[in-house]
Amino acid sequence: METVVGVIVPAQRQVRPTDMQQNTTTIYNSIERHEAEPVNSAKVRKPLYEKRKKIFPKRAEGRFRQFKWLVMLITLGIYYLTPWIRWDRGPHAPDQAVLIDLAGRRFYFFFIEIWPQEFFFVAGLLVMAGFGLFLVTSAVGRAWCGYACPQTVWVDLFLVVERAIEGDRNARIKLDTGPWTLDKIWKRVSKHAVWLVIAVATGGAWIFYFADAPTLLVDFAMLKAPPVAYITVAILTATTYIFGGLMREQVCTYMCPWPRIQAAMLDESSLVVTYNDWRGEPRTRHAKKAIAAGESVGDCVDCNACVVVCPMGIDIRDGQQLECITCALCIDACDNVMDKIGKERGLIAYATLSDYSANMALATAGGTEPVDPKRVRGADGAFDGKIRHFDWRIIFRPRTLLYFGVWSLAGFALLFALLSRDRLDLNVIHDRNPQFVVESDGSIRNGYAVKLLNMIPEPRVITVSIEGMPGATMKIAGHESADGRSVDIPADPDKVTALRVFVTLPKDRLAEAAEGFQIIAEDRQGHERDVYSANFNTPGAK
Ligand code: SF4
Ligand code: SF4
Repeated sequence: METVVGVIVPAQRQVRPTDMQQNTTTIYNSIERHEAEPVNSAKVRKPLYEKRKKIFPKRAEGRFRQFKWLVMLITLGIYYLTPWIRWDRGPHAPDQAVLIDLAGRRFYFFFIEIWPQEFFFVAGLLVMAGFGLFLVTSAVGRAWCGYACPQTVWVDLFLVVERAIEGDRNARIKLDTGPWTLDKIWKRVSKHAVWLVIAVATGGAWIFYFADAPTLLVDFAMLKAPPVAYITVAILTATTYIFGGLMREQVCTYMCPWPRIQAAMLDESSLVVTYNDWRGEPRTRHAKKAIAAGESVGDCVDCNACVVVCPMGIDIRDGQQLECITCALCIDACDNVMDKIGKERGLIAYATLSDYSANMALATAGGTEPVDPKRVRGADGAFDGKIRHFDWRIIFRPRTLLYFGVWSLAGFALLFALLSRDRLDLNVIHDRNPQFVVESDGSIRNGYAVKLLNMIPEPRVITVSIEGMPGATMKIAGHESADGRSVDIPADPDKVTALRVFVTLPKDRLAEAAEGFQIIAEDRQGHERDVYSANFNTPGAK
């Protein structure tokens, strides 16, 4: 042991210059260098309608990849399994937890049942989804694209199959460029067959949201399902196979509007995947020689690991690009390289434009010089104290708080509407032709088309009565009234009951008509009621 300025240093930790050079040589030699040309490099911007260049993404390893596996598992699990979850609503309603019942015009979501006139709930959810997307994009960039978009998830799934059958990047490139041997034919046929199975399962899962899943599965297999089911599965099979297997990154680059829209939601404080060239440049593949020659060397060893894992085939070192879906796989790839060469992770990282610009200004002496790593590191190799690092508090800024506020407001409004909504509804349409009928005794009769909506999956008795307009009597076609002003109507579960209601006012009470009256539907046991204020037409009334 030796003591150096009060610090105990183990003798074996002392490094002689020759050892250091040897270690540097060994470390840099251990880095795998990939030959890869990005599909649209900064040096050679290709025309928009350039022939497609095939991309063979290498499998990435790291924390973002792990997170993406998790998101993929959850999203695919939700999509494929949800129609099979059962939810007991009693004998009068379907027991499928999530069901879009087009024939019955209902949407069931666990304990929630939405009727057509409650469609504003769906509109509200869409508003929430929109603001949620704004919120996520302004906070963490295109996280939706990189992690949860169906196109990303299914392409990832298709790539899992491709790698399992054809191997990782190099094996796939070799197979693709090689001659058509039996091995190649077998692998290609197997890959496309599995892709088609996934595509059929994807289309198949979709139709189960629109009917009782177990029944529809049997009907589908026995060729007894409605034609629309087969057409839907065929269309979704084709789109899944083509978009996920064949077109892949082309969908994001050329077909999806979101990359264009998202630019409006990003600001200088949004987190985006960034190559920190303020520490990476000058990049070199010959760091050991450059270091030995005393030249400035950035952290980037130009290994192209970030390029070969990119599912979009781009080079993030060219800066922000429309094609980048911020999947962060290049971060994983580069972090692994930084670990190997003993540098801090984060040469490629989630960063804000404002932090990046500040660090870049430091590295380039305010933009007057090329990047020099010595400006961002001290003599001990550690980053200068002025270097700005990610601060999570930047997520909570006025713009994101505003989006969060609107999103929460919409959420609370929907929740309130959901908890306070009526499950008994009354719709009334006054007859227009004729507006009234004069009876033989001179009394006046008005007719009304009434609809009673029993919005619970239980039968119940609903009392329809009138209030106001003293002297008036009510009759409902097909039903008896004990007192001439109210009738008990048996209402089927989860159904609309249509009624023809006639209200009659004696000749000597016609003056009462001016005030109008109320039609009331009431479930006296359930303590629910709905009231409609009705007009009563008489001869000569304006
Ligand atoms: S550049 Fe990086 S973050 Fe962007 S798509 Fe490629 S791998 Fe994903
Ligand atoms: S940024 Fe990282 S992964 Fe990409 S070439 Fe440089 S060192 Fe390699």
